[in-house]
Amino acid sequence: MNIHEYQARELFQKFGVASQKGKSAFTPQEAEQAAIALGADQIVVKAQIHAGGRGKGTFKNGFKGGVHLCKTPAEVRHLAEQMLGQTLVTHQTGPEGRVVNTLLVAEAVDISRELYFAILFDRASSAPMIIASTEGGMDIEAVAEHSPEKILRITIDPLLGIQPYQTRKIAAALGLRGPLMTQASKLFTALYRTYIESDCTLVEINPLVVTPDGRLLALDAKFNFDDNALYRQPAIVAMRDIAEEDPREVAASEFNLNYIGLDGNIACLVNGAGLAMATMDIIQHSGGSPANFLDVGGGATKEQVSAAFKIILGDKAVKGIMVNIFGGIMDCNVIAHGIVDAARETGLNLPLVVRLEGNNVEAGKKTLAESGLPLLSASSMADAAAKIVAAVKAA
Ligand code: GDP
Ligand code: MG
Repeated sequence: MNIHEYQARELFQKFGVASQKGKSAFTPQEAEQAAIALGADQIVVKAQIHAGGRGKGTFKNGFKGGVHLCKTPAEVRHLAEQMLGQTLVTHQTGPEGRVVNTLLVAEAVDISRELYFAILFDRASSAPMIIASTEGGMDIEAVAEHSPEKILRITIDPLLGIQPYQTRKIAAALGLRGPLMTQASKLFTALYRTYIESDCTLVEINPLVVTPDGRLLALDAKFNFDDNALYRQPAIVAMRDIAEEDPREVAASEFNLNYIGLDGNIACLVNGAGLAMATMDIIQHSGGSPANFLDVGGGATKEQVSAAFKIILGDKAVKGIMVNIFGGIMDCNVIAHGIVDAARETGLNLPLVVRLEGNNVEAGKKTLAESGLPLLSASSMADAAAKIVAAVKAA
């Protein structure tokens, strides 16, 4: 799960991470009021979307930039009128862009240096890792490509947590000395606490800035959270903005289905994550392209299967469906009933291949056969994939 920058700043306040004052605004009036309340000489207005690169982005209405500096509340209002409700395209949003429904209106600061600081979960070492660089304000991927020596990586022992010698080492590498080193140690420690206590998988501050009057501030914030830990993070879950998420994935999460939308046209419905991966591979191998990853789990109910089917059918890109079930714990007949119910309710008119194997498979096949649905049955996974790819190509 992701959150907006203005929400990340609420976490900054809670954990004592230094940042400038700011407020969220949903209308031009609110943006103007926020600017008046801040009473700052310089104000920054920032589009809130779950993607970076906003500064260099362009709105579909032609308005340039999702991050603007200005001086008066009237200017803030004018900027808000150009940005709110408009679609912002950045190199991270893809060509479709994201609609800006919220702005952050914050006190602008003068910048002498822009740095990069992130904490992420490093799978190779199974531990949190800090990534820091003097090259802030630009894409870290570009820095990694052109000047990898400018990136410092430090693995944090998850039992010990971040140690003072480590915060000093990072600060020194970033050229932060004297009072700035003291501020840096405090800020890095507070960010590490935020990361651990909020069950983050990523906290990225780009840029972390040094101001001419010697302050170190987090100017931007990108947070990702571990979905498997959300059950113990109600305050984070409350920040979820489903307008930013793939509507297919939102529907799937309501039914506890493991669904990830892809951009192909053959939907698959599978039990077990490994089998689901193999199914996507075999569709690809047979010359097709999967529309999704979908694991209904080992103990899916008829309702879940039916919901899964409807999510698949709600996707206009889908031109064919491959059901691939190996019933170990799963009863094949439950799947069959789920498919039949959903197909009837939705008036299914796409090619559907079903490969069932395992627990209670005969009853499942009987249910499908007696349903009168125009199914293609398959003897094996390879056969199923070949049949659905051929059916979609013929359609
Ligand atoms: P991003 O483009 O989505 O990463 O958005 P950022 O919040 O990182 O803003 C982009 C750039 O705008 C930053 O790298 C800064 O150079 C600039 N910027 C953002 N806030 C301020 C500010 O308060 N003062 C100044 N002078 N520049 C800012
Ligand atoms: Mg940034």
